[in-house]
Amino acid sequence: MLISLLIPLYNEEKQIPLTLDTLIPMLRDLPVDYELILVDDGSKDKTWELINQASIKNTRIIGLRFSRNFGKEAAICAALDKASGDAVILIDGDLQHPPELIPDMVKDWMTGEYDIIEGIKATRGKESVISRLNARLFYGLFHRLSGYDLRNASDYKLLDRRVVDEWKNLEEHDTFFRGLSAWLGFRRKTFTFKVAARQTGISKWSLLRLAKLSINAITSFSTAPLQFITFIGILLLAGSFIIAIQTLVNWFSGQAASGFTTVILLQLLIGGSIMISLGLIGIYVARIFTEVKGRPRYIIAQQTSPSGSLASGNGKGSITGKNNLSDTSDSEAYRP
Ligand code: UDP
Ligand code: MG
Repeated sequence: MLISLLIPLYNEEKQIPLTLDTLIPMLRDLPVDYELILVDDGSKDKTWELINQASIKNTRIIGLRFSRNFGKEAAICAALDKASGDAVILIDGDLQHPPELIPDMVKDWMTGEYDIIEGIKATRGKESVISRLNARLFYGLFHRLSGYDLRNASDYKLLDRRVVDEWKNLEEHDTFFRGLSAWLGFRRKTFTFKVAARQTGISKWSLLRLAKLSINAITSFSTAPLQFITFIGILLLAGSFIIAIQTLVNWFSGQAASGFTTVILLQLLIGGSIMISLGLIGIYVARIFTEVKGRPRYIIAQQTSPSGSLASGNGKGSITGKNNLSDTSDSEAYRP
């Protein structure tokens, strides 16, 4: 039995040594074999060098380096594509997902009763009021529109091989791991955990990125916003009947010149509604455009070379692993 631990990393040079020192002893003690897949999501700091060094010391570490920053979702896709384990565990690289729960996850999986074992946040940890409000708004909207309640859900999950194989059949370019893994179904078990504070660095998610992910998530799970346009249209039509009657009455009673206020209000209302409607349609058209282009979800520029790793596979580490850094396996582009 093999467990693959998958970690997306972006500018985590300070964090990597801490994370690996915590995780590796824990993985060694598992009753199953392990591999550790570290995806460098186009970091600008020493993240890749550190991954490389680690892979020289420990042959179970496989490093992938993206040609640029493709985002956490793409990093998750790459790690899932690369993993060869009978189960995979996805965990953040900043130890905000408590790794001490991994043995229990593995134990639950080994009973054979569950295909997905997922972490639910008991508390969301430290965050600003704005991001808390945003999260509430997003998850509330997502629940209403898609039917999936992902409040307090996290990416901290164990997936059985069967689930990973099904995931690989999903072809969409812009994925939303949390939502899609719920969509896949299967037998699930949840556990709660407290989000730990980040020890080093800062969250890599800007408000803009979160907004993008939220729009992706909602539009890939629901067409309700498009239905909403029809709803606005019906409302406006109903309103226009009333105004039409009033206008005609005014005309017949010789007061047709007044009513500029109404005209202005109607202009604003109709103009606003049309803009919103076009915007909503635009979002869906843009998504179709992205899918039709069929570009790869990510591009791998470098991989840690197995030969470099093997050269020092005795665990002593070695400087001869230098080719590890320069060794670039051919660039591989994976189609979604
Ligand atoms: N991450 C990534 N690519 C990105 C942003 C983040 O691979 O573009 C990684 C990051 O290094 C970390 C994980 O995704 O291991 C979670 O990111 P972060 O801690 O910044 O998010 P938060 O915990 O604030 O949701
Ligand atoms: Mg984090």
